[in-house]
Amino acid sequence: MAVHVVGNVGLDTTFRLARFPKPGETLNASGVGVALGGKGANQALAALRAGAEVTLWSAVGSDAEAAVVRRGLLDAGLCDRGLLVLPLPTDRSAVLVDADGENQIASAVACALAFDPVSSRWFERAQGGDVLVLQGNLTPNATRAALRTGRALGLRTILNASPLGTHADMLDGMPHVVVVNRVEGETLTGEHAPDRMVEALCGRISGAAVVTLGAEGFVFAEGPDERPRSRAAHAARAVDTSGAGDVFCGTLAARLSLGHGFEPALRLAGWAAAIAVTRAGTFGCGPDRGEFQTWYE
Ligand code: ADP
Repeated sequence: MAVHVVGNVGLDTTFRLARFPKPGETLNASGVGVALGGKGANQALAALRAGAEVTLWSAVGSDAEAAVVRRGLLDAGLCDRGLLVLPLPTDRSAVLVDADGENQIASAVACALAFDPVSSRWFERAQGGDVLVLQGNLTPNATRAALRTGRALGLRTILNASPLGTHADMLDGMPHVVVVNRVEGETLTGEHAPDRMVEALCGRISGAAVVTLGAEGFVFAEGPDERPRSRAAHAARAVDTSGAGDVFCGTLAARLSLGHGFEPALRLAGWAAAIAVTRAGTFGCGPDRGEFQTWYE
């Protein structure tokens, strides 16, 4: 069964600086790099590397950056058949990173906000039993509608409700599985204990919930009648924790699409995410196909 990731993609330009500029000040960066970004693209690549057949359904603009995005997806092994072209600038972010590793980010996300997944007609390619994955970068309306369509088609639907912003109503799309980190879990449920967050989320969607806890691992339950269980994180020397959640969700989706049980799929997701934190960047920071094959197949 295949994985359909409906989400955003863009270009991140990262400038490395000794310190952040003050208002009105210009500083020379010690380094600059351009990389693909967007939670949709990150999760699609993680799912591909975990062994799934994947399509990313997303939107780019009609500009030079769109060609860079398309090339980047193809070079990573993803297909570009799900890319819709909109008369807008391609989404992009400027990321400033200071000597302490702190960052400041400015984003322009016209495509993510204008993308109506219905127009990419992803649902015509999806088959019952496939896995549909969404994140929080599209509008809540688009996210809810895609989840409902996926459910009606008999797909297994996963919502990584991140970024959450003020869009708690994304859950009204009633995904089969919701994945959030601790902060998002607190915001969505008003609870502070991860077990309670999992219980509240399972009850809200009548489905499975996972709350990720960074270096402390994760807590999950497969449904409202199940007692939440915790799993420790794999030991890892973290250098950059950004992207860990995306590798976790992409790997989970891939393994569910391959018919693995929920708990074994989560265990592998935790392993892959622990590798991701030992590597810089987000797009492709998880284990590659060879590493999955060496360790798990
Ligand atoms: P997000 O990136 O969405 O904020 P988390 O920080 O909770 O999500 O990380 C997601 C998962 O990645 C965790 O549940 C854990 O399995 C793994 N992880 C994150 N940080 C570490 C770490 N320092 N060491 C090992 N695993 C980690």
